[in-house]
Amino acid sequence: MTYDDFAGRPRTGWDMHCHTVFSDGTETPEELIRQAKAMQLLGVAITDHDTTSGWVPARRAAQSLGLPLLRGTEITAEFDRTSVHMLAYQYDPNSPHIARMFARTRDGRVRRAKIMVERLSEDFPITWDDVLDQVKEGSRTTIGRPHIADALVAAGIYATRSEAFQGAVSGGSEYYVPTPSPTALEVVEAIREAGGVSVVAHPADTGRNRVLLSDEQIRALVDEGLDGLEVWHRGNAPEQRLRLLALAQRYGLLTTGGSDWHGKGKPNLLGENVADPETVARIIERGAISPILPPAPEEALSAK
Ligand code: AMP
Ligand code: FE
Ligand code: FE
Ligand code: ZN
Repeated sequence: MTYDDFAGRPRTGWDMHCHTVFSDGTETPEELIRQAKAMQLLGVAITDHDTTSGWVPARRAAQSLGLPLLRGTEITAEFDRTSVHMLAYQYDPNSPHIARMFARTRDGRVRRAKIMVERLSEDFPITWDDVLDQVKEGSRTTIGRPHIADALVAAGIYATRSEAFQGAVSGGSEYYVPTPSPTALEVVEAIREAGGVSVVAHPADTGRNRVLLSDEQIRALVDEGLDGLEVWHRGNAPEQRLRLLALAQRYGLLTTGGSDWHGKGKPNLLGENVADPETVARIIERGAISPILPPAPEEALSAK
């Protein structure tokens, strides 16, 4: 028995964390649904960064291919200088607070990416147009460092996106500029106002932050209405998973899982981490919008 089995990692279920061409994934929502169906996942959630642009194509594909779908977003935030990603599921996309927040963050992302490219262009042959060439859905795509990384790959500076993330686009590089972000407390509040379910994404990913969210910070998010923690994610080390499970137990939080799939942009494999169907049923109960459940919901929501 592995450490993971001991901690109760679900084997089959829903991949609750997937990116597409509407942010920094390389594949379309249709391709996400096709692959998830082919590998017999119970369902998936689309969670592009700071947008709902992929929701309509994802719904169409889920309906036509017959795969259950939740609609969500991975929201950029910060908590006392620690970068935090919040997953929001099943919320009303027309809720003014959350919609305004996304618009602001996407504008900030563009401004920040342009400054990074300006700095990079002093040492590398890349322009803003080269970055835009890597953006698949125009202004409907949330721009991020991955698009800059892809431009550096196209220019022959790096062999892969991941290599660029080890180099010039890394968080520690001289070219790095942070994205202006709302606080995690504001994000939890906005998700609650929109009737959604809030989950801290990869809360213990030391690859993203040297200083992780503390127990006290997580407690503060719980007081604001936080619903869950993404325990099953490759970025959370085994001993951190046990810490997160204990916190979830203490505060009555949902424990979810997802691959953080970015298609060919990252090594993460679709379905490598999942949430169990009972947890997904809780999320659906709490959420403001209907899940897409074709054609047999009872199959998707009960354990095999
Ligand atoms: P940004 O949000 O613009 O600061 O860029 C960070 C994002 O890059 C995170 O969402 C990562 O998941 C994403 N990303 C995509 N591909 C990679 C990769 N190959 N290595 C590291 N991060 C990546
Ligand atoms: Fe990403
Ligand atoms: Fe993330
Ligand atoms: Zn993600």
